[in-house]
Amino acid sequence: MQKTATLRHLLEETDRFITCVELVTSRGTLADRSGKRVLEMARILSADPRFDALSITDNPGGNPMITADALGTPLKEGGQEVIIHLSCKDFNRNGLLGQAWKLANGGFDNILTLSGDYPIAGYQGQAGGVFDIDSVGLLQLLADMNEGRIEDASPGRKPRPLKPTRFFLGAVVNNHKRLEAEVMPQYFKLAQKIRTGARFIINQIGYDARKQDELLKYMALHGLQVPVIANVFVLSGGVARFFHAGRIPGVEVTDELLAVAQKQAASPDKGRAFFLEFAAQQCAIAQGLGYRGAYLGGHIGAEEYGRILELAAQYGADDWRDFARQIRYSRPGEFFYFEEDPDTGLASAQVNQAYLDSKTPNGRRQAPLTYRINRQIHDRVFEPSKALFRLGAALSRKVEGGKLQKPLHTVEHALKIAAFDCRDCGDCSLPDIAYLCPESQCVKNQRNGPCGGTRQGKCEIGDKDCIWARAYDRLKACGQEEQMLGDAAVIKDAALQGTSAWANAFLQKDHRGKKKDSQ
Ligand code: SF4
Repeated sequence: MQKTATLRHLLEETDRFITCVELVTSRGTLADRSGKRVLEMARILSADPRFDALSITDNPGGNPMITADALGTPLKEGGQEVIIHLSCKDFNRNGLLGQAWKLANGGFDNILTLSGDYPIAGYQGQAGGVFDIDSVGLLQLLADMNEGRIEDASPGRKPRPLKPTRFFLGAVVNNHKRLEAEVMPQYFKLAQKIRTGARFIINQIGYDARKQDELLKYMALHGLQVPVIANVFVLSGGVARFFHAGRIPGVEVTDELLAVAQKQAASPDKGRAFFLEFAAQQCAIAQGLGYRGAYLGGHIGAEEYGRILELAAQYGADDWRDFARQIRYSRPGEFFYFEEDPDTGLASAQVNQAYLDSKTPNGRRQAPLTYRINRQIHDRVFEPSKALFRLGAALSRKVEGGKLQKPLHTVEHALKIAAFDCRDCGDCSLPDIAYLCPESQCVKNQRNGPCGGTRQGKCEIGDKDCIWARAYDRLKACGQEEQMLGDAAVIKDAALQGTSAWANAFLQKDHRGKKKDSQ
């Protein structure tokens, strides 16, 4: 059935509460059994006018699957509005640009930009993650395509502007986190994504109405005015166990919710009626709170998605308030930006007092000495307005291409290996991340804020603390955390690998210098 309204129209020109369903792509071609099954379900959902858009994943969970556009093409040809997920884990920026041209060529406008889960499977062993750019870098690339800022720069030819694309860009946020050092960088990154070009937001799966409410209230307080669609993932006993075990990065089911799910799963219908009702209640909460739609996902069939909408349509106008009091599965000690409203159990208008106190000079912890020293050196030497910077620039120009260039670079690298585990990328992000190296300490080389995969402050891979949670703590200790991610997107220049980052900073060849040029 031809869907008459585009997602852009629905979100930007109407105030209708919309419904999307996430389709997880399959392994193999669409002619394989699982491919046929997904396509069949997609066709049933397409024929139902209650579903406004189908959203198609890109190698979800870091697994190899058929590409989103392969499934999206027959759906689009049938008149279905689709959202294509595009992540940075499997392609470098050239690959992503190629993918983006392919999507533009195929008439796919709605793109959900993601960094992506770290690959966990692959052909003959685990695949390596690419992460040449991150979700913010990808947003910048696609926004530049929209603005006609990408040129045809074929070798030997005068660069020619390319036709602007008309992507409707989306991004994700995950505030269902326990620690302040995870939640606040997520909010800062959200603001950066919106500044960079995100026109709609889908939040990560979570089962706490207060945190759902907090996201919208935080956005309203900070002037972040884009439509947000609420993620509603339908649980089952198995899915709850899977999430509780941390098998999907950034998605959590608490002990309490797991106990509820297990109890329901033991009933004769395996909890089916309960879990569909639970999802319908989450949809009602989302609508009541002011989300612009529900983003449904789960291991269920097309009919069950329809049943969720039927149930949601039966509720009274204020029933969502009771549901919101019940669906409150946060972890003990979880950070909230706003105080709780005792009447509703949701977010009040009052910012968390303990948080505000912790931001005062008396409330702050002390930053590590090494951080303070590095910051002092940076501010005195690497700020272009400073005399030492001009001296450094003059010396770098003198040394460039001469006999001293290599030995000086060797000394610099040795010092930086000892201090930061430097990988000699030549386009240094240490000052952006409170002197933590994303090359050596972040498996996804995230230069524009944390990915959504942290768990209690730990990295999605291994057991190290996330560098962005650490950076937040360091910056907060100096009262500078609000400036985190306040600049334009950082996109590393791979051509600088193995060259002196100091010289590149002085000669303004790195991302900081380029940013200055473009201002
Ligand atoms: S260090 Fe943080 S941002 Fe980097 S991959 Fe781990 S969780 Fe994600």
